Amino acid sequence: MNMRTRVPDDLEVWLATNEERALAELFDFLRIPSISAKPEHAGDVRRAALWLADALQRIEFDVEVVSTSGHPVVIAEWRRAPVGAPTVLIYGHYDVQPPEPLDRWTSPPFEPTLRDGMLFARGAVDDKGQLWLHVCALAAHIAVRRTLPVNVIVLAEGEEEVGSRSVIRLIEENAERLRADAIVISDTPMFAPGLPSILASLRGIAYFQVEVGGTAGDLHSGQYGGAVLNPATALARIVSTLHDSDGRVAIPGFYDALRPISIELQASLDALPFDEQLFRANAGAATLAGERGYTTLQRTWVRPTCEVNGMISGYTGTGAKTVIPASAMAKISFRLVPDQAPEEIERLFRHHVEQCAPPGATVRVRMLHGGRPWRVVTDGPLFDAARVALGAAFERIPVVAATGGAIPIVSHLERVIGAPILLMGFGLPSENAHAPDEWISLDNFRRGQRACALLWDLLAVEG
Ligand SMILES: [Zn+2]
Repeated sequence: MNMRTRVPDDLEVWLATNEERALAELFDFLRIPSISAKPEHAGDVRRAALWLADALQRIEFDVEVVSTSGHPVVIAEWRRAPVGAPTVLIYGHYDVQPPEPLDRWTSPPFEPTLRDGMLFARGAVDDKGQLWLHVCALAAHIAVRRTLPVNVIVLAEGEEEVGSRSVIRLIEENAERLRADAIVISDTPMFAPGLPSILASLRGIAYFQVEVGGTAGDLHSGQYGGAVLNPATALARIVSTLHDSDGRVAIPGFYDALRPISIELQASLDALPFDEQLFRANAGAATLAGERGYTTLQRTWVRPTCEVNGMISGYTGTGAKTVIPASAMAKISFRLVPDQAPEEIERLFRHHVEQCAPPGATVRVRMLHGGRPWRVVTDGPLFDAARVALGAAFERIPVVAATGGAIPIVSHLERVIGAPILLMGFGLPSENAHAPDEWISLDNFRRGQRACALLWDLLAVEG
């Protein structure tokens, strides 16, 4: 990394001078309760889309607010960069999670409040604050230089928290219009405070409901016990076959498609300042457990898993009830890593359950949803530029990290647009995304603007 690269003075001065206004405008954005999950807030979601569209129009973007069968998608384009300049697509979302439980908020969720360098509000970090810092960086270029060094498409949706259905369809229908040389998303946390991070891998998911039936109704366990199949026992037997004694998933073929992680990625992950005791304490676990032969970060980021998310059967109330339950149900999901396809995992899982089901049990497997895993090699001009930009803005060499969760839009964008995706988030692991007292660090909000502003300069040079 070139340690001498700095955020250019003209952009730095403008961002510093306009900081108060940038925050005041973010406050307005955050005051709109754009809760996508609640039908009664559909008008607010639309209001947030229009608010964002207006802000982008003010910095000379051509903006379209696309109506969908769900919430609107904002597509804003600025295509006046010099001939040969690359086109970048910035994705973000302006919808937020429901704020409940309200009594757990120190200040009201839609009344942005500053405390100790932290900005508290629903959406502060996920994702309005991070989307807004991108807009500020674009505004700096336009205001100071009357131009941008790259062509820019801003794609902002209002259904991220409820599955991104409309934007996924819109991407497919507008692949040509959205074509870009690089995709940048700021909707993830940094590995630790002060440590700028590029994410290289996300896990996918395959989620199932397994229902086991035995008899037409619950039976007296004295009259029938010993003579009929117990669905709870049958389900427990199926569940017990999912892992071996080393914590590996014991479904035949489960690991066949796995792409080994590269030596470079492994080295990056090994170099992270990971505090395992803190992780254990945060989990409230007496001890950590998992697949033998792997570290905690490997287990949560780059190894696939199988988890029982819930089980229910028979009598679970107070006291005793002597009953043989008529049915049992489990929710079972898999976290997937490249190149495990959810459809293939479904095939393997169904076959395995059929093989393991005790005679007499009727077993039904339903797939509830699936999402593909994603991994990127962090080489090439986009990642080189990101390393320099983050390094200059945070005065620290960025790390390559990963997450065990899923961001379904990422693999769709990659599949349809085909450009490398930079996950450059400015959140922190402790910022309570989706929870009460969500906040964003003002320092990260400021540095994030500078990193983005510099990134466009660097990409223009390298592009
Ligand atoms: Zn988000």
